[in-house]
Amino acid sequence: MPICELRNVTRSYGTGEARVDALREVSLAIEPGEFTVFCGPSGSGKTTLLNQIGCLDAPTEGELLIEGRPTARMSSRELSRLRADKIGFVFQSFNLIPVLTALENIELSLELAGRNQGVREAAQAMLPQVGLEGLGHRRPNQLSGGQQQRVAVARALVKRPLLVIADEPTANLDSVNGEQVLDTMRRLNASLHTTFLFSSHDPRVVAHARRVITLRDGRIVSDEVRQPGSAGVA
Ligand code: ADP
Ligand code: MG
Repeated sequence: MPICELRNVTRSYGTGEARVDALREVSLAIEPGEFTVFCGPSGSGKTTLLNQIGCLDAPTEGELLIEGRPTARMSSRELSRLRADKIGFVFQSFNLIPVLTALENIELSLELAGRNQGVREAAQAMLPQVGLEGLGHRRPNQLSGGQQQRVAVARALVKRPLLVIADEPTANLDSVNGEQVLDTMRRLNASLHTTFLFSSHDPRVVAHARRVITLRDGRIVSDEVRQPGSAGVA
C-alpha cells in the first residue's frame, strides 16, 4: 500500500477572475522508502503540493490518503497528531529554536510527538548520524548553515516518521553545504528506510534523487524513476 496517495487533487486560491489553480488534478502515489524530488520552475506548485502531502493544507477538490486513510475524514485534532507523529519537516530556512541547543532542538521534536522516555538518548544517537557528534551543546547561531540544516534533519528523523518533507532544503546553502545535507538525507534513507520527499530547482540537487517528478503550472509533466547505475543514483 502506498504511504501517501493523491487522487485528482486540485488546490485553488481566490475566486472568479482572481482564481489561481496552484495544483490541477494531481494524482500520485508515494511508496515506502522513496527518495523523491519535486522540481519545476518557481510558481509551478511544489510548495503547494508538499503542503498537501504534509497535511498542512487541504485540497479544494480531490482526495489525499495517508496510509490508506482519507484525510478529509480526520478531525483537525487527528491531523495534528498525524503531523506530529508521522511527518518530519525540514524547511528552507532551518527554523531551529535559537535559544535551544542543537540537542534540545532535536529533543523537542520527540516531546511534541508525546514521547517522554529515552528522549535525551534518542536525540544524542542522532548526532553522529548527521555528522554532528560533539556539537550537541551548541546553539544554532554557533553552527554553520549546513550544520543547522543537519540539526533540522536530525529533528525530523528522531521520531522515526513515516515520511520526511523538505521544501527546498538546500536553497539557503552554498553548494558544499547543500551537498553534505543531501548526502546525510540519502544515507538516512538507506539506513533507516525513511521516505524523503523534497523539492528543488537546482539540477545538482535533483541529480541525487531516485524519482524525479516535474511540475509545471500545477500539473505533473513527468515522473521518472532512475535505474540503478544511471547518473546521480546512490
Ligand atoms: P513553487 O513552490 O513551485 O514556487 P507554489 O506552490 O508556492 O510554487 O505556488 C504555486 C502557485 O500558487 C503560484 O502561482 C503562486 O503564486 C500561487 N500561490 C501559492 N500560495 C498562494 C496563496 N496563499 N495565495 C494565492 N496564491 C498562492
Ligand atoms: Mg516553493
